[in-house]
Amino acid sequence: MDSAEIKALLRALPSVEQVLQSPAATPWLALMPRDRVVSLVRGVISELRQKLVSGERPPGDVDKIVSDLVSGKVEQVTEPSLRSVINASGVILHTNLGRAPLGAAAARAVAGVATRYCNLEFDLARGCRGRRDDHCGPLLEALLGAPALVVNNNAAAIFLVVHELARDGEVLVSRGELVEIGDGFRIQEILEASQARVREVGSTNRTHLQDYSAAIGRRTRLVLRVHPSNFRQVGFTGRPRLPELVELAHRAEIPMVEDLGSGCLSDGPWPGIEGEPPVTRSLAAGVDLVTCSGDKLLGGPQAGIITGREDLVQRIRRNPLFRALRVDKLTLAALGATLRAYARGREDQVPALRMARATVSRLTRRCERLAGQLADRGVLYAQVEQGESLLGGGSTPMQRIPSVLVTVSGTRRAVSAIERRLRSGTPPVIARIERDRLLLDLRTVSDDQEGALAAAVARAVDAV
Ligand SMILES: *Cc1c(COP(=O)(O)O)cnc(C)c1O
Repeated sequence: MDSAEIKALLRALPSVEQVLQSPAATPWLALMPRDRVVSLVRGVISELRQKLVSGERPPGDVDKIVSDLVSGKVEQVTEPSLRSVINASGVILHTNLGRAPLGAAAARAVAGVATRYCNLEFDLARGCRGRRDDHCGPLLEALLGAPALVVNNNAAAIFLVVHELARDGEVLVSRGELVEIGDGFRIQEILEASQARVREVGSTNRTHLQDYSAAIGRRTRLVLRVHPSNFRQVGFTGRPRLPELVELAHRAEIPMVEDLGSGCLSDGPWPGIEGEPPVTRSLAAGVDLVTCSGDKLLGGPQAGIITGREDLVQRIRRNPLFRALRVDKLTLAALGATLRAYARGREDQVPALRMARATVSRLTRRCERLAGQLADRGVLYAQVEQGESLLGGGSTPMQRIPSVLVTVSGTRRAVSAIERRLRSGTPPVIARIERDRLLLDLRTVSDDQEGALAAAVARAVDAV
């Protein structure tokens, strides 16, 4: 573009006042105070001006470009970005979809304290300051048989444990367990951030007890075992059994810490989650401290749990960083309600466990009902087939749970267009695609979402 052309384009830019007078502005002004709208419009016009000056050609009518951009920005600040979705992917603990959904009692408990004052740190019996630990600590102790602390998440739990017990010293970890936990974060970096030196032992596929004992020295502060929860090693692999490692650590008079990741509180046996080591089993094996997540298999809110030896738990409790990593009242309300479901033997009220446990015969009935609803709405090519769900969420990698699916087949293009429409619809529906078929897994869809799912699928199929 030559400078005359650029000048002409700049002259064609609407003024802030012109934009505010246009019909497009009416809804914006109904949603937000005028001065906020003015500043959004001003920002959009100035961005566009800069693009024009740098020689970028506007991809259409400038008035329309400005009003579309402002509409987008108004929506960004007036519409919630975080929304509920229908998870028809069959991945129960989908980290990108918020991991475990809370049960009804947990949601009620959150709502009950969210808009009111509560006794978060107030002792109602004695009328004096209470402890926030008292809401979940005793419950966890009753369930696990050991004192426990709650922090922001499992990463925070590991960080805090290592910071308290191994700062300025060494942590022994098997080379095969230095995993990446997701979003580019690695266990190794968390350990280093807590000022411990990581001493890798063994090799990637095999680590022997001897590797640990040879590495234990004057500066060794703890032995860490990380549950390989989001990947699985197959073939020529091996690592010491937990009791052997515990014995070795104790002979050297250092604590043995285990990051279990998933936080299985149930003793099972559970179809689908047989591979998950329960927290109590590790404690019984003599592990000094166990850390796990609250929102994986435990089925509660995002939280990290540290449990084990009383003296170590107390030391960690006194670390100043505990204050920085503590949880709020909403988390405690949700976690407390979830733990009470366990305490009452009502694991069926924990949605993640209920989903993992749903039987093929019940899922078949639900799938047949959905397929019927789809047929009624004119969706051809919907079938009920056998398939698999996944536990996900860094729990029991590749642990597949036999399931039943509703599949919608079509050309590759059609199926991918349907998937896209479902994802961007209201409510958004997340489905899997496999071999040019759309897979809908009802294991992760609650009963009360079935109607909305059928309607969304019918709309999406209709539109392509
Ligand atoms: C998931 C996981 C973590 C991280 O837990 P967050 O609660 O997400 O912080 C750490 N270690 C293991 C083994 C895990 O599976």
